[in-house]
Amino acid sequence: MAGSSEEVGDKGLPPILEQRCILQSEALSQYILETSVYPREPEVLKELRQLTATDLRNVMATGPDEMQFLSMLLKLMNAKKTLEIGVYTGYSLLATALSLPHDGKIIAIDINRNNFELGLPFFKKAGVAHKVDFREGPALPILNDLMEEEKYKGWFDFVFVDADKNNYMNYHKRVVEMVRVGGIIGYDNTLWNGSVVAQAMGERPFPYYIMECRDAILEFNAYLAADPRVEICHLSIADGLTLCRRLN
Ligand code: SAM
Ligand code: CA
Repeated sequence: MAGSSEEVGDKGLPPILEQRCILQSEALSQYILETSVYPREPEVLKELRQLTATDLRNVMATGPDEMQFLSMLLKLMNAKKTLEIGVYTGYSLLATALSLPHDGKIIAIDINRNNFELGLPFFKKAGVAHKVDFREGPALPILNDLMEEEKYKGWFDFVFVDADKNNYMNYHKRVVEMVRVGGIIGYDNTLWNGSVVAQAMGERPFPYYIMECRDAILEFNAYLAADPRVEICHLSIADGLTLCRRLN
């Protein structure tokens, strides 16, 4: 992952902006994708991924290797009710919808509905749009409203958090009470482009948006490591994914 801000990769971006994966070897990452992920990716997800690739902010989309893993986890858990914070064009949301049973339900929150509208035709094509209850707006007040309803205490089997990193701690305080005991919360990007181990900014040129949230991610990771309400597993897949299993 060495590189200077002058270097550019295949897409004309500095390598740090092209790489969604924390693996040190781009070749190894490609090997996993080409051998095990792309051949198994549902056609409709592939189509959404290809559409998303045409958007300028496509680096935000969850990678197909990570969603292959989470799809299996959702099925192993027999998940039926999930919550997603941070939808963008809906790659992780569609993979989730495809993994839930026909009567599964997902509450999906994003501050911006326009990107979700781009992905919506793929949900309809896959016959899973009825599972998604999309709520537009900043996630915190929406979560506060959900928490007012007794029904949502310990209701969700799975929660995927992939929105503004500075608010992860605030999201955790809420969703840890909304996931059922034994349910899983997944926090995405918890290795934050590797910046969590950067000793100094000069060591590797991180863009401003990375440095802006680095301290919040460091604080959040330390908090989770000591939170007795959850068992955790910090995975080095994609840009880092921390799974929390609610204990009580
Ligand atoms: N999970 C998505 C996927 O697989 O494509 C990617 C989500 S993207 C990394 C982050 C999303 O969070 C953006 O769509 C952004 O609009 C949304 N977002 C940022 N701040 C938010 C907030 N305060 N409340 C709700 N959504 C927010
Ligand atoms: Ca992410």
